[in-house]
Amino acid sequence: MPEMPEVETVRRGLVPNLVGRMITFVDLRRPDLRFPFPEGFEEGLVNSRIQDIDRMSKYLLIRLDNGNTWLSHLGMTGIWTINSDGNGKHDHVHIELDNGALTATYSDHRRFGIMDLFPTINSDKHKLLANLGPEPLTKEFTKEALKEGLHGRQSPIKTSLLDQKIVSGLGNIYVSEILHRSKISPKRKSADVAGKSSKINKAIERIHTQTNEVIAEAIRVGGSTISDFRGVSGDSDLGYFPQQFTVFNRESESCNRDGCNGIIRRIVQSGRSTFYCPRCQR
Ligand SMILES: [Zn+2]
Repeated sequence: MPEMPEVETVRRGLVPNLVGRMITFVDLRRPDLRFPFPEGFEEGLVNSRIQDIDRMSKYLLIRLDNGNTWLSHLGMTGIWTINSDGNGKHDHVHIELDNGALTATYSDHRRFGIMDLFPTINSDKHKLLANLGPEPLTKEFTKEALKEGLHGRQSPIKTSLLDQKIVSGLGNIYVSEILHRSKISPKRKSADVAGKSSKINKAIERIHTQTNEVIAEAIRVGGSTISDFRGVSGDSDLGYFPQQFTVFNRESESCNRDGCNGIIRRIVQSGRSTFYCPRCQR
């Protein structure tokens, strides 16, 4: 499943191809992805020029010069490709730009992806975007905001970090990594990690720092290539961050922290796998 760093990689791949171009033809091959396409979707896209492509969390926001924003979420298996033939079995949305000078195709074999179209001025109020918490590497993501988000919560820290209202854009893989690097057990209660005093404690400092570092590193190497993700160019070798994972998918292997002889364990929390080292994560 593409996580936020992968979506950022897709965004960076789409921008030089699509920005400045006019959408001249839209071919929807089915009525829906995860949800039905909105009414007037094709009409809202055709004859508009792509001004910019933004991203909030895992949502790509394609800004059009007709005042609309085209939202694309990749779900589990969504892929954008440029100039493919667009005839694949799972190619659900195919667009031509500048009268066929370039094409962009959205394929998604499991169809958990989402597309929507709405006035750009309503972006902040959109139901999928309105409740997103601060995002790593932005000025909104402060130690104070993190502490506030965890304050008083009874859920395990792993579960809270996956809550998009507390921090947006963190997925399952990266949360295991962040907690390992922070030396914090994924089972610790969020409220205890935040602490009772109003001061920022070491645990919050470490999680804050490691969240930014892990996400920056993942974006730098082009996101991970777990499962079906491919970059916009169709290049399957775009990312290699998985090879650098310290705990994810390493059950029963030894912890690679210097001086720690722990064995990585896998547990299930809120239905998702968590990998951690019981020796150095407290
Ligand atoms: Zn360890």
